[in-house]
Amino acid sequence: MSYDYDLFVIGGGSGGIAAARRATEYGAKVGLAEFDRLGGTCVNRGCIPKKLMVYASHFSHWLEDAPDYGWSVGDTSFDWQKLTKAVNGEVDRLNGVYQRMLDKANVSLYEGYAQFVDTHTLDIDGEKITADKILIAVGGIPEKANIPGIEHAIVSDDMFTLPTQPKRFVVLGGGYIGVEFACILNALGSQVTQIIRRPYILRGFDHDIREHLQGTLTDQGLQVLDETEIASIEKTQDGLKLATKGNHEETITADTVLAATGRIPRLEKLGLDKAGVEVKNGAIAVNDYSCTTVPNIFAVGDCTDRINLTPVAIQEGRAVADTEFGDKNRIMSHENVPAAVFTSPEAATVGFSEAEARKQYGEDAIKIYRARFGSTYFSLTQRKEKVMLKLVVDQNSDRVLGAHMVGEAAGEIMQGLAIPIKMGATKADFDATVAIHPSVAEEFVTMR
Ligand code: NDP
Repeated sequence: MSYDYDLFVIGGGSGGIAAARRATEYGAKVGLAEFDRLGGTCVNRGCIPKKLMVYASHFSHWLEDAPDYGWSVGDTSFDWQKLTKAVNGEVDRLNGVYQRMLDKANVSLYEGYAQFVDTHTLDIDGEKITADKILIAVGGIPEKANIPGIEHAIVSDDMFTLPTQPKRFVVLGGGYIGVEFACILNALGSQVTQIIRRPYILRGFDHDIREHLQGTLTDQGLQVLDETEIASIEKTQDGLKLATKGNHEETITADTVLAATGRIPRLEKLGLDKAGVEVKNGAIAVNDYSCTTVPNIFAVGDCTDRINLTPVAIQEGRAVADTEFGDKNRIMSHENVPAAVFTSPEAATVGFSEAEARKQYGEDAIKIYRARFGSTYFSLTQRKEKVMLKLVVDQNSDRVLGAHMVGEAAGEIMQGLAIPIKMGATKADFDATVAIHPSVAEEFVTMR
């Protein structure tokens, strides 16, 4: 039976575009449907615009420190509209880059919403197309908690189009998104309150990262209400009135409340039942090859809810294309995936946390190497901040199971460390590596 396409991709985000382009390299005829702007969450309302805002927030620290390094800084001010306009301009530019990438790869773009008709047929706004293989890469959407008045809260998508900078900013949630935006707004001068239902931010991260980062951000003036939840939100003339419950029972007035309580796969209206694709716990169920319960239908990225990070979606997508069109039998490894939280300072991690390692290898098998110190940069500044570096080592094999850091450029440093850790490096390998001095990361090869 012949089809219109060898591969049809639903969703023009990181995973979908990577898979589409890779498949064309093997000679596949590929189509792709996207009803929104190309680039998905990462480009349009996630990693990229967020990182640009993070850069904007760095200047407040540098301006504060500048006199300690001999600079005289005159009056300074920050213009929210100017920043968001520039950020959105860059997003527009990137949309064009993605369009050109698809054109160059000869991927046919359908600007519309694709829905399954059967296992090989899709309906895109009334047009029927058929494909031998179909890849679902539709990503996720923010999910709001069920709280009276939550409709008054915005989600992270809205952060980039806020017309003015909120003076009083409340963040609900202690995950990546909540922590990053709390930190950005705090540095840009808003009064920020972050409400978390746990004792510490960033559940799932190594405890030392959670504690150290939370302490550092609190020292920067960010107010964290731990073990607290929002009971209700009410719109008043003075702003949004929040009643909190738990550890801190207060009434807080805010200009903007950001609900950063997680994201869920965007599966609504896809018609997965028409193709018989199984959904488990709200996400598309897939095997190691990202194949769904239907042999010719695959799914990658956030809609599968494995590790919801852009580079993971990209690798998953390329692995599908390599296996299905390049005869390569590739499985994407979800072990030792590095991650960074773009706070200031950054937090970054790869491999096992101390708690996970002790659980997996036994309480006594694990040796921890930890360093906390003020870096050379802060030796001249009034503002003091400490970095935290940590290695989790299996004493039996001497293998480094995990590395964790809070400090400037932690994300950049962790990208480098992820390679030896993925390769199975031992603590002796780390010790045999010569340090770069003076640097912060040198502690990773000198800790005893
Ligand atoms: P997360 O799942 O990381 O965090 C959600 C937070 O909201 C948690 O603190 C959670 O608490 C809390 N929460 C959930 N439900 C409720 C509730 N009903 N009431 C109060 N608090 C609640 O989601 P995010 O939205 O922060 O991020 C989504 C995903 O996006 C991340 O998992 C990550 O993969 C990705 N991302 C990655 C970034 C990066 O790589 N730098 C940046 C931004 C996003 P609890 O811990 O108790 O469940």
